[in-house]
Amino acid sequence: MSELTTAGSFEVDRGDLGWGIFARREFHRGDYIFTFTGPLIDFDGTVAKGERESDPLQIGENLYIDLEEPGRSINHSCAPNSGVIENRILIAIRSIQPGEEISLDYSTTMGDGHWTMICACGNASCRGVIRDFEYLDQELRQSYLELNVVQGYLRHRLGEQLQADRHGRGEMASKDFRR
Ligand SMILES: [Zn+2]
Repeated sequence: MSELTTAGSFEVDRGDLGWGIFARREFHRGDYIFTFTGPLIDFDGTVAKGERESDPLQIGENLYIDLEEPGRSINHSCAPNSGVIENRILIAIRSIQPGEEISLDYSTTMGDGHWTMICACGNASCRGVIRDFEYLDQELRQSYLELNVVQGYLRHRLGEQLQADRHGRGEMASKDFRR
């Protein structure tokens, strides 16, 4: 689906949690919503933003998009209805009804070990604090990975971790063999 066909499909408005993004039509799972845009900055650039440190979207090791609207207005939810693919494209991960707030689990993008936030999303599954992806429980991480809505640099880290684990087991196995 092209960006042009999504014009008017959502709007930035005030909701229960302050400014947010609200659907103006129905979205189905997998539908394109919008692309996050803005200048690229590094980690020091995010810290320099002070109270607005939560605006940038992490897209790589020490690489962030300093978000412009509408991306800057998307709120976090521990039970989100959207997710980020290809580091910057927001898609629906379940159906979204007109008027419903479009939300994202920030933790699927976070990995610099720095920023955290108390969460007030109010969902039964609320984790209380929004932290880096590595702190999500295994089941939740797996479900986001299966939806393919985890930033590439985080998936890359997990891949390296898996390889290191396999390598470690391999070494142990060969030691056992020698014994
Ligand atoms: Zn929450």
